[in-house]
This record gives sequence, C-alpha cells and structure tokens, in this order.
Amino acid sequence: MTDYVFPPHPQASVAVKGSGARFPVRRIFCVGRNYAAHAREMGRDPDREPPFFFTKPADAVVDNGVTVPYPPETENLQYEIELVIAIGKGGRNIRAEDAYGHIFGAGVGLDLTRRDLQLKAREMGRPWDWGKGFDMSAPITAITPWADVPSVEAGRIWLAVNGEVRQDGDLAEQIWDVQEQIAIVSRTMALEAGDLIMTGTPAGVGPVVAGDVITGGVAGLDEIRTEIGPRES
Ligand code: MN
Repeated sequence: MTDYVFPPHPQASVAVKGSGARFPVRRIFCVGRNYAAHAREMGRDPDREPPFFFTKPADAVVDNGVTVPYPPETENLQYEIELVIAIGKGGRNIRAEDAYGHIFGAGVGLDLTRRDLQLKAREMGRPWDWGKGFDMSAPITAITPWADVPSVEAGRIWLAVNGEVRQDGDLAEQIWDVQEQIAIVSRTMALEAGDLIMTGTPAGVGPVVAGDVITGGVAGLDEIRTEIGPRES
C-alpha cells in the first residue's frame, strides 16, 4: 500500500443505470462547436475544420438531481445540453470503425459555462479553463450501458429551463460524429477506461439564474434535472 501524506481525494464517479456500481471518472474531454447552428450563434463558421477540445477536471461531475450553486466570478452562467460518451476500453490511434467497441455507455450531461469568462478568454487567446472547468460544472445522469443505448448518431437532444424548451436538436446534426471524436482524441493521447467525452451542444444556449430548474435529455437515455442554487458566499 502506498503511503500518502494525507488521504487522497475520493475517486470521482458517475452512476450507472441498473447497477449499484459506479463508473470511475478519469478525465473529461469536451468538444467545442460540434453543431453548425450553435457554432453560428457563437459567432463562428461551422466549417468542417478539425474539431477542438477542452477539458474539465474529473471531479467537476455532479450526480443527476443535485443542486448546483451559482458559481463565483460570473454574471452569465449558461447551460449546454450534451450527449456524454463513457469510455470503457482504452486505446491509442483507435480507428473510427472500431470506436464503438471502446464505449462503456452513454449519458446526458450539462456543460455548465461561465460564458463571460469563456468569451473574454477566447478574445484574449487565453485558455478556457476558468470559463468551463469550475467546481460542479458537469452534472451527468446515470450512464446507460452500451447494449441499451438506441443510438448516438441520431435522436432528439433537448433542454428546457423551468419547463420551457430552449434547445431542441438532433444528434444527427453533429459535425464530428462519436466515432470520429474517439478516433481524433486517441491520436493525440491514449484514451483510457473512465474517460468521458462531452460531445457538444446544439443551438439555443443561454443564461440561467439561481432558482432555475434545468431539465434535458437525449432520446433513449435518462433525463437530467439540475436546479441552480444561490451563490455561495
Ligand atoms: Mn459544450
């Protein structure tokens, strides 16, 4: 047994549908601008230029139903509904046609974003971490095992705030599909079991305030429900 100078932080994890066992999270990769209409609303061309990625810390994950306090240092907290792919088998240089064999399952997540900090960083050519990788920035539903996932290629993806639909798209609108995303990430670094990929959001992103209830889903997967709580002092 390794001796540590203090107890290590508990392993970050996500629930698994139909199982008492949890999915241990290693890293969270997020695809930027993977739906054309969202790229346009963010002021960018939806050309099929190579996708780019950013990351969130593994312990940014939050279980479905848990209230997320309004985070510090922002006046523009925004929701992004995303299909989340859970990697169950690692690899490097994974071929797109082999990619599905590396998936453990899929869930529904929110890429919560401090949009004001993200856009300022974008303008200044600085990293996105402060806008994207804050505490509790990744609420995720239980992961549905791959055998029970109807499709990650087509199906409705939607989000509502206080019951009013704000995002309503289809997975088929992804510029880079899940197989391509896995192939591309695994060329840059070895994917490992426990990695999550948040696959991008359709158009309709916008702000939320304390007291708002976000709900959302992807066809065939659990729905997410996240309430935004008061800012912590
Ligand atoms: Mn996103």
